[in-house]
Amino acid sequence: MGMENIRIVLVGPLYGGNVGSTCRAMANMGISDLALVAPRNLNMDEARMMACHATCILEERSEFDSLSEAVADCGAVMGTTARGGLYRQHARPPREWADKVLEVAQTGKVALVFGREDNGLDNDELAVCTHIIQIPTTIEYSSLNLAQAVLICCYEVFVASETYEPPEEKSPEAPSLLRERMFALWREALLDVGFMEPDKADHMMLGLRRILARGKLTEDDVQILMGMARQSSWAAKQSN
Ligand code: SAH
Repeated sequence: MGMENIRIVLVGPLYGGNVGSTCRAMANMGISDLALVAPRNLNMDEARMMACHATCILEERSEFDSLSEAVADCGAVMGTTARGGLYRQHARPPREWADKVLEVAQTGKVALVFGREDNGLDNDELAVCTHIIQIPTTIEYSSLNLAQAVLICCYEVFVASETYEPPEEKSPEAPSLLRERMFALWREALLDVGFMEPDKADHMMLGLRRILARGKLTEDDVQILMGMARQSSWAAKQSN
């Protein structure tokens, strides 16, 4: 799917913890190419600790002296910024660029570039970028933690790649015959527990049908509801 063509580039990272957390975020989202540009005295123990089960990404990282070298082989270079202003007017949220990242990654390398914890990316570095990503935030505080910014960007690409399949409901929708058996049991149970008088039963049951028709009712759901009705009738008869 091209995820192997996506490179995460951290420019001048300061904290080992952020580099480790970045590795973990990348592993969570199926991206494994990490490049560091001129890292500043990283605490590698902290990096390993925060990488958790993703230390292989940390070990296999590449290092460069400049951003231009780190992205030399990349067709698209997507820079991230928390700030607005000059050079940043064409910034878009990661969700809007995610398809583009995947499209380029089908045939070539793509870099997602992140700036320094204290200073972000400078204008020369932004100039190298072909696209600018801005993660939507409040106006009051737009600067995210570095590794959290990486996670959000990688997450959007992962979701757009459609590799994730949400769990599916295995129980089929209950057929009418089963639903009618359930309503008959509930009618009986609600009379047995004294919830309704016989002359109000039709009216009540229409209300109950309306409520239960509002969402999907699976066979498993109906079995549970039938069990509840049976038990209620049984208990009501015990106490009479
Ligand atoms: N003080 C710096 C913020 C750096 S945060 C500044 O003003 O630029 C470290 C890095 O995390 C940023 O360079 C950017 O790569 C990423 N980041 C943080 N918040 C972001 C946001 N809202 N949108 C996109 N990237 C963000």
